[in-house]
Amino acid sequence: QFTGTLAINRKDEIGQLANSFQLMTEKLGENDRIRKEFISDVSHDFQSPLLNIKGYASLLLDNELPAEERKSYALVIQSETERLSSLTKQLLLLTSLDQIASPLHLKMFSLDEQLKEIIRKHRWLLEEKGMSLSMEIDEGRYKGDPSFLEKVWENLLSNALKYTEDGGSIDIELTEQANKVTVKFSDNGIGIDQEAMGRIFDRFYRVDDSRTQEIGGTGLGLSIVQQVVKLHGGTIEVMRNKEKGTTFIVELPKL
Ligand code: ADP
Repeated sequence: QFTGTLAINRKDEIGQLANSFQLMTEKLGENDRIRKEFISDVSHDFQSPLLNIKGYASLLLDNELPAEERKSYALVIQSETERLSSLTKQLLLLTSLDQIASPLHLKMFSLDEQLKEIIRKHRWLLEEKGMSLSMEIDEGRYKGDPSFLEKVWENLLSNALKYTEDGGSIDIELTEQANKVTVKFSDNGIGIDQEAMGRIFDRFYRVDDSRTQEIGGTGLGLSIVQQVVKLHGGTIEVMRNKEKGTTFIVELPKL
């Protein structure tokens, strides 16, 4: 692979061509680095649950094991298997989003109904955690890819739930304007440090503190969110709330 610099400093066609080659090789090198990093991250993320499953499965082979311990080992195997399963699903989704041709299947649908449905699905968790949820939802007819957008709301809501302590609250707003729709997810949870703000959309990035590490996750959710929003020509913004917690604002232009 060519990594040197072409020392052609001319303004004519040859100079332009040299510049394009330069850009291309830089881009190729960059892609290669990203690809290697990605594979290494994926392998690492598969390796640790697999090792846990292997370890606890061999402990379970001991016939003398008290029932109590047996159960706790089986539970670890179950949760590690779930982790692998969600990792695989998210990776497949990311791969489908990375296709060269747009993977979107656009359709006119009701965004408000979709949001309400996702909230309904999470009711049990809200109740379990004693959390309250308020919503202000306009009617929102929108042309986009409903199945990818569903993942966006799903990931934002499940993060708000995961990273907010029991008894906390979540606000969801949908406002419709002539040329765009805006969806806001706000929570009063653990919040995100200023220095982590710039990295939360990176693949596999998880905030490095004990509270986040305790809560399960793959670090892929927000990169999926960002990718889907981008494919719809939209933007996503994240802000720290004045008091406590985090707000995500998604703006989608009407196509
Ligand atoms: P994960 O699977 O770890 O939840 P995400 O890509 O969805 O991955 O999020 C990346 C990181 O951003 C999380 O690990 C967490 O540290 C932080 N984060 C995301 N949403 C929130 C939120 N609502 N409140 C606090 N931290 C959050």
